[in-house]
Amino acid sequence: MRIVLLGPPGAGKGSLASLLQKQLGVRHVSTGDIFRQEIARHSALGRRVHRYVTSGRLVPDRLVVAVMAARLNPAQIDRGIVLDGFPRTAGQAAGLDRVLKRRRRPLDGAVYLSVPMTVLVRRLTGRRVCPRCGANYHVRTMKPQRPGRCDRCAARLIIRNDDEPRTIRKRLRIDQAASRPLLAYYRRRGVLYRIKGAGPLDAVFERVHRVCRRHGWLG
Ligand code: AMP
Repeated sequence: MRIVLLGPPGAGKGSLASLLQKQLGVRHVSTGDIFRQEIARHSALGRRVHRYVTSGRLVPDRLVVAVMAARLNPAQIDRGIVLDGFPRTAGQAAGLDRVLKRRRRPLDGAVYLSVPMTVLVRRLTGRRVCPRCGANYHVRTMKPQRPGRCDRCAARLIIRNDDEPRTIRKRLRIDQAASRPLLAYYRRRGVLYRIKGAGPLDAVFERVHRVCRRHGWLG
């Protein structure tokens, strides 16, 4: 299956996408993770996107689409992908459609995770991430086994610098404005599915899994 996960920062797209990868074998691709890795490597791409990512602004559409067109290889597209954090604008959605059309594998669905604002702010302020492997934790709801250390690679967990309260509010505002035309794009195409994104991760997974089964996306 080929789906995109939509929803504001903190909606749980990353956690859900990794669970979909684990349970259903579809490849999880996250633009945020790609950009953070490139910044950590000090690559040419990392240097270009650094100022956008650290201030919570969107990287320009042309650059994001070019990066994704290069990263999404044909075999991955055939086997199945779940995209997290991309597309963020209607322009990027059109770019993604062009990439998938070239491979004759259209998008199955755009799954929007709907989460109340109070829950989003709570989730984002408590989020901790592993700077080495990208794993996500939460100080209350998804604690690591050893305090402050990653379960997978034991690196010391950090607060993402765009998860500071002032930047969080800015990211939520930017996202709201950008996502309206994006949702309209997918609604027009008849592939938009709205799912309740609050509550425990396994419950959200079940809701999404049900939609996948009902529409025959799992092959
Ligand atoms: P995320 O981890 O998805 O919250 O992304 C972190 C940051 O990376 C965002 O605040 C943007 O600066 C940048 N970013 C990630 N994905 C995109 C995208 N599709 N379009 C533009 N900027 C993006």
